[in-house]
Amino acid sequence: MAYGSPVLRQIYDRLPGWGRSLMTTAYAVRTYGSRFGAGYERWSKILEKTQFESTEALRARSLQEALELAHRARSESAFFAERLPEGDFSWEEVPILTKQDVREHMQQMHAADRSAFGRTVVRRTSGTTGTPLELLQTVEAVQRENAFAWQHRSWHGCPRGCRTATLAGHPVVPTSQDRPPYWVHNRYENQLIFSSYHMSPEAMPHYARALERFTPDLIHGYPSSIALVAQAVLDEGLAIRPKAVITASETLLSHQRRLIRDAFGVEPAIWYGNTELAGNIVECPEGRLHVREEHSLTEFLDEHGRPAAPGSEARLVATALGNPAMFLLRYDTGDVVVPSAEERCPCGRAGRLVEQVVGRVEDYIIDGAGRRIGRLDHLFKDVRDVREAQIVQETPGRIVVRLICDRSAFGAARQAVLREVRMRLSPATIVEIERASRLDRGPSGKAAFVRQMSAAR
Ligand SMILES: [Zn+2]
Repeated sequence: MAYGSPVLRQIYDRLPGWGRSLMTTAYAVRTYGSRFGAGYERWSKILEKTQFESTEALRARSLQEALELAHRARSESAFFAERLPEGDFSWEEVPILTKQDVREHMQQMHAADRSAFGRTVVRRTSGTTGTPLELLQTVEAVQRENAFAWQHRSWHGCPRGCRTATLAGHPVVPTSQDRPPYWVHNRYENQLIFSSYHMSPEAMPHYARALERFTPDLIHGYPSSIALVAQAVLDEGLAIRPKAVITASETLLSHQRRLIRDAFGVEPAIWYGNTELAGNIVECPEGRLHVREEHSLTEFLDEHGRPAAPGSEARLVATALGNPAMFLLRYDTGDVVVPSAEERCPCGRAGRLVEQVVGRVEDYIIDGAGRRIGRLDHLFKDVRDVREAQIVQETPGRIVVRLICDRSAFGAARQAVLREVRMRLSPATIVEIERASRLDRGPSGKAAFVRQMSAAR
């Protein structure tokens, strides 16, 4: 998608639509090997078998792997050397790891002995409170994640290589652009990638018609973006019949599910994963949510840190088993799920079942062009030394970004946020960035990541 370097991005932004598609395709060719190399093939074969093993056997193996990982962490990482008991210990003695822990000790959580694995990459996530995390991951860990993702898609009749429409927050079109195309075509992977940042009422019919022309097998991405396109498809009276719609990164809300079903004639399926590679829960064709037990050691804990009862809300705590470069043991993802009392799924695949991924309900803002935009945690991806961040929408088209940080860090953080704002919000948006000492809280006392003042509703 060729927005890695600022210079390339400038060239890319000035190209016509076909030129951007060409550059996107070239980028896909260049990065293909690191996304789908030997690790991908190896894991795809493994998962073919494990998907039908018994849940108990998979969980026992994951616990064994997690314990081995914890012993390695103790000997290889300064952080875990202090944190874990000496000698043998049971899994319950491993302390829960919070995002705050990771933010403060990221460097000390890396594996010291890197001889055992190949190339690594650093991936960033801000999380929904706008708190940046830097994650060291092996290339194989990324490939392994892709193997899980494509196996899930193949459950729904969409193997790798199928016609794929993606609406997942890729800034593929400059925000100043106000006419189509609002998408680029990655020909190498049969993929049409839509912008999630141009979804104004005037633009939506163009989105719907582009999707119709493309005739996707698979539509995947943010439910907030897919639902907006679904509405446009219904408004335009188009018939688009993909084999599957798979949502990720945000909570799939019930009205979004209904819209997607009405517009595309299929029940959307949830993919729950995260950039930390800690935890994977996916919806099967029978409409059940399966925990991928071989992906991570996954625990559902109540507020006292004990295993949560079926039917009640639980914290999702997971140990990433696929990434030997950085230890995330008993990591509190910050997401909430409801474990199910149902023992077995009619589809026959392994994994405990989950009634619901409650997640964090993301919010939209309305930018200066009247476009609705979700998943704004992207704005804080490259921001350093900011403890918390929040976006307050005062009126449509006007937002205040509040950064909780030291005075010395504010200038650089402000510049980093503005760069991302330019890539994602219309130039007509009024954006104020201020340093704050606390988060702005609503009447409920909760500090929502996106806070809507009543006038914006
Ligand atoms: Zn199932």
